[in-house]
Amino acid sequence: RDQKAKVPKYPGLQRFQILKKMGDGAFSNVYKALDTVTQKKVAIKVVRKYELNNSQATPYNNPLSFSERHLHRDVKNKPRAIERANILKEVQIMRQLKHPSIVSLVSFSEDKEYYYLVLELMEGGELFHQIVKLTYFSEPLSRHVIVQVAEGIHYLHEEKGVIHRDIKPENLLFDPIPIIPSKVPPPPPGPNDEPKEDEGEFISGVGGGGIGVVKIADFGLSKVVWNEQTMTPCGTVGYTAPEIVKDERYSKSVDMWALGCVLYTLLCGFPPFYDESIQILTEKVAKGHYTFLSPWWDDISASSKDLITHLLDVDPDKRYTIKEFFEHPWVKDEPFYPNVTT
Ligand code: ADP
Ligand code: MG
Repeated sequence: RDQKAKVPKYPGLQRFQILKKMGDGAFSNVYKALDTVTQKKVAIKVVRKYELNNSQATPYNNPLSFSERHLHRDVKNKPRAIERANILKEVQIMRQLKHPSIVSLVSFSEDKEYYYLVLELMEGGELFHQIVKLTYFSEPLSRHVIVQVAEGIHYLHEEKGVIHRDIKPENLLFDPIPIIPSKVPPPPPGPNDEPKEDEGEFISGVGGGGIGVVKIADFGLSKVVWNEQTMTPCGTVGYTAPEIVKDERYSKSVDMWALGCVLYTLLCGFPPFYDESIQILTEKVAKGHYTFLSPWWDDISASSKDLITHLLDVDPDKRYTIKEFFEHPWVKDEPFYPNVTT
């Protein structure tokens, strides 16, 4: 009831009954809501058109660079002060997307003060919180998650010519599934030795966590590159300059790097690159300096490390593409349970 009192009156949301807040940032609030017309639950991302900042009205389209935003959120561990580029672009891109691994946009509207993105509801929320809760994921569960994310990226890169540019655990959402006990044993004790609560039983080879469907959300930083299928933005294949072709490949490779970071984080519970100091962290990323830290990585398969090494390659030309990802044995040759056999 208290929560409800704090929800502002949104003129554009009359047909919805707001149930609870699911996420917030400086310029956007995401609510779980009931559509009273369809009786379906949805997520609504409410975005202020203008924000009062130092008693000055700041327009919504005041983006930080990718790395600035990333570091701001991840290192300081609090929401960004300044929001991202044009919401209308986010909507325009989302409207073209339809895939089981992509959160779909149900509708879009606006009034004087706000934009409203009505989204498919992901009941489980952020994958980020599930990693924090479980400490780390078993290899089968990590594969279950990362393959779904990769299928979404494959669709974006190969079919739509869209680069997400902000793949990270906060922007990966999931639906929980009921936990069904099976005979697959749990992984060995966790890295931080703390007894884990609520780890869950193992589900048909996937193992703990209760994660069903995983989807990519937040297209606020995404962009469309030239693509044969979509024929946007420029025309004929044979006339495209090499630097444009290269540019496109480079921009796609940023999602593959991020995919490598997510896979690394799933398997051990901490990110490949981290430092309290933003400067040192930036340096580590630039050099691609990361390790498979002992003892946390000791019992994780060589095959998964090999895959990560190919994703976290500082040379974007050598870095795996989404197609190569799906060719890798760790992804292709399932099922295997490397932690089951001693
Ligand atoms: P921002 O631009 O503020 O990062 P996001 O689209 O990432 O906006 O949404 C912010 C947060 O709101 C997400 O990290 C997630 O916790 C929650 N959220 C967003 N969309 C959904 C959804 N469809 N279902 C459930 N939670 C959502
Ligand atoms: Mg986000």
